[in-house]
Formats: sequence, structure tokens, C-alpha cells
Amino acid sequence: MTGVGFITEPERQVPVRYETQVLVVGGGSAGVAAAVAAARNGADVTLVERTNYLGGLATGGLIILLLIMDDGRGSQVIAGLCEETIQRMAARGAAVFPKKEEWGDPDDALVARYRKWGLVNGHGPHAVRYAAAYDAEEMKFAFETMCAEAGMRLLYSVQGCEPIAAGGRIKGVTFQGKNGRFAIAADVVIDTTGDGDIFWAGGCEHASEKVAPWLWFTMGGVKGELDATGAGSRFMRTIGGGHVLLPWGATDRISRMIDATEPEDITFAAVECRKLVMAEVDRLKAEVPGFEDAHLCHIADQLDVTESRRLVGEYVLTREDMDQTFDDTVAVTGHWTKYGSLYDIPYRSLLAKEYSNLLTAGRCISVDHRTHHATKEIPACMATGEAAGTAAAMAAMAGTAAKTLDVRALQARLESKGAIVRATRGIRGPAGL
Ligand SMILES: Cc1cc2nc3c(=O)[nH]c(=O)nc-3n(C[C@H](O)[C@H](O)[C@H](O)COP(=O)(O)OP(=O)(O)OC[C@H]3O[C@@H](n4cnc5c(N)ncnc54)[C@H](O)[C@@H]3O)c2cc1C
Repeated sequence: MTGVGFITEPERQVPVRYETQVLVVGGGSAGVAAAVAAARNGADVTLVERTNYLGGLATGGLIILLLIMDDGRGSQVIAGLCEETIQRMAARGAAVFPKKEEWGDPDDALVARYRKWGLVNGHGPHAVRYAAAYDAEEMKFAFETMCAEAGMRLLYSVQGCEPIAAGGRIKGVTFQGKNGRFAIAADVVIDTTGDGDIFWAGGCEHASEKVAPWLWFTMGGVKGELDATGAGSRFMRTIGGGHVLLPWGATDRISRMIDATEPEDITFAAVECRKLVMAEVDRLKAEVPGFEDAHLCHIADQLDVTESRRLVGEYVLTREDMDQTFDDTVAVTGHWTKYGSLYDIPYRSLLAKEYSNLLTAGRCISVDHRTHHATKEIPACMATGEAAGTAAAMAAMAGTAAKTLDVRALQARLESKGAIVRATRGIRGPAGL
């Protein structure tokens, strides 16, 4: 952090604009799942997002691949609100995914077909995964529709600032809008900012990572059936003909890792990544058959950073916990590059140690760096969001602390709403496993 001294801000009164039972800060995939789950469980919910759309990296970051909802052996391990979102987009022709009978099938032709959509990843031998490619604009619409139907207060273009705490409990959070600062009082707060802005500002123990940032982009007017890994780039098919997604943006990386919570680093990365993307567009048009008349369609609005802060909460889920079960499991995820590996995610990994009513969900939950590769994926973010939102609603409605919630009742509630809490392992899979 750079600095040339300090100034003292004048003390001021901050108006409390709303009182709400469940306050969700950050409207990415985890935040939407948390808010919708809380509202469907009867709570009065407020969802606050700093941009003017929902989805976070899953829409604005152009990470338009839901990887993955299965265990790699043909068995589904994530359902609930993630599955519902896929079905809503599919009903509008905006999602592509393998049929149930194809999950776990090692057939080469099937694997090759879904690999072109970016739905099979990692090193082989491979099998078809339950994963989905989708359209970012359609997901924004699906999320807004789900929020509106569930009934909640949605606020865009407002930045969450600091929790206001007393006696180990958060009473509310301050926000900065275009028309000034205000507070929202809440019974339970869920930090789904991805970067853990609220638990960080509240002084919670956390870990931080520096990462290599990317800007994913799409090109249109591409001709022919492209080799999915041609000419040094990996292209992926997208919804709608003639468009391809270029994940990871350019093939070159920028010169250094960045801290995605430092404005200077984010600015450096955004400018450098855009230069690399533009150079890659020129290279593809000049060198790669099929791209001669192609054009740049869209560069991700949000810098694609996998990781920044992670909570160090009531429990830190580690690689050693792979394939272990917990009494307080509230979500399960497979691994997008591995077959047959499962992580049970305990409720304690969503709970801050320092406060009785602060939960987190999505990419900043309490896991170690290696486990984060699995729990950061969009379906897993939605599953932890759904668990956090359901827990928050149950705690707020019962007038109890989220930390002391009856987890068996939470698990039963999640299952009754279609989420998977106890996964059944599949028996299919790639040859040799
Ligand atoms: C390069 C890359 C490739 C990836 N590939 C895949 C993939 O192929 N498939 C897959 O499933 N996953 C993939 N992921 C992971 C996945 O995209 C993210 O981990 C996931 O989308 C995170 O969801 P989230 O809701 O936790 O956070 P985010 O999507 O980051 O959402 C956080 C939201 O909070 C808002 N916000 C932030 N701070 C504040 C604040 N202070 N106040 C108010 N609002 C705030 C943001 O605007 C945003 O909308 C990839 C990630 C990256 C970076």
C-alpha cells in the first residue's frame, strides 16, 4: 500500500436508509443464490451490487461456463438454484449441456463434441461432464427475474463499505452511493463481494493471494468448424453461430501478479490485459484460418481474477479434506479437472469467527488455496450462496445467531428445496480410473 500521510475525516451522521432481515452485499452468482434462497425461505432481503447487473464474473467477467455440477463419474452433486438457472436459460435456447445419460461417458466423439464448448477440461483420459455453456446477457436476465419473483429489495450502483458492529454482532453495513453515504441495518449479513470487502473491513482473519489476471473476450464473424485448440489459442463455441469465446484472453500473461484489492494493481492489469487482447485479435485475424473477416465483439467488463481475499473462518477446508464428509456439510462440489474427487463444504467454512451473524459464500469462503480451485467455480459458488442464504433466513426468522443455527434443520431445509447436501458417487468415468 502506498501513502503520503493521513487526513482526519470529520465525524458525521449516516442515515439508516433501510432495515432488513438478511443483507447480501455483492450480486455475483453466490450473492444472487444467497438472496433468492433467503427470500424464498420467507425473509425480508436486501441485495446490494456495485455495478448495474447481476452475475459478477459469471456475466461481466464473461466466464460463461458452469463447471461443473457432477463428480466426473456420472453423478450430479450440485442442483438447487444452479440447476434452476440452467433450466431457465435453456428454455430460451441460451444454455448448452450434455444430456443426463451422457454424463460420465468416455466415448471419444462425445468428449470431443463437448470439449469444443469448453465443458471438458484438464488432462485425460476424459469423460463427459455435467457442465453448461451459456449466454452472459441471458444469465443477467435469469438472475434479475429470479430476484424479482422471490421478492426482495435490489440496489445497484452502490458500494458496500464497512460493517457497524457491537458486542460481536454486526448491526448493519455502510454503503456509498452516488448521492452519498447511508447505512442498512440487518439481522444477518452475507458477504458475497468475492473479495471479502465486508469481512476485511470488519477486521476478520483472512488470507490473501496475488494472481495473474485475464480478460476473456469473444469474436464474431468466425467462419468454419474451428479446431478448438488451434494456433496457440483455445477457442470455444458459444451460444449463437459464428461467435467464439477466447478464455484466458490472450495467450501471453502480463508481466507480474497482482493484488486485486489494490486500485493501482487493478488499473495496471486492466490496461495491460486489454493491450494483450487487442494484439491477440490482430494475430488471430492475420494468422488463423477462419478469422480473416472476424471482429472483436466483447471484452469482459470485469477483470478476471480468480482469487483475492479468503475468509479464515470457523473451519478452513483443505486439500486433505477431499473425499471426507462432515456432520455440517451444506454443499458438495466436484473438481473441474479431476474425475471422482469430491469436496463436502461444511457450514463452518461460511462462518466468520469474529461475529455471530456474518456469513460468506462464493469465491471468498474459508478454504485453502488449492481447495479454492474447486470451491471457486460458479456452480459451487451458487451452492454455498444457497446454503448461506437459507441459513441467514432461518436464523433471522427464528431470532437466533447464524453461528448457533441447528445445522440438521438447515440441511433438511436445503434438501427440501432441491439442493444436494449428501452426494451419491457415480460409477462411470474415463477408462483407467
Ligand atoms: C480467469 C478465470 C476463469 C474461470 N473459469 C471458470 C469456469 O470456466 N467455470 C466456472 O464455473 N468458474 C470459473 N471461474 C470462477 C468463477 O468465475 C468465479 O469464482 C465465480 O464467478 C465467483 O462468483 P462470486 O459470486 O463468488 O464472486 P463474483 O463473481 O466476483 O461476484 C462478486 C460481486 O460482488 C460485487 N461487489 C464486489 N465488491 C462489492 C462491494 N464492496 N459492494 C457491492 N458489490 C460488490 C461485484 O461487482 C460482483 O458482482 C473462473 C474465474 C476466473 C477469474
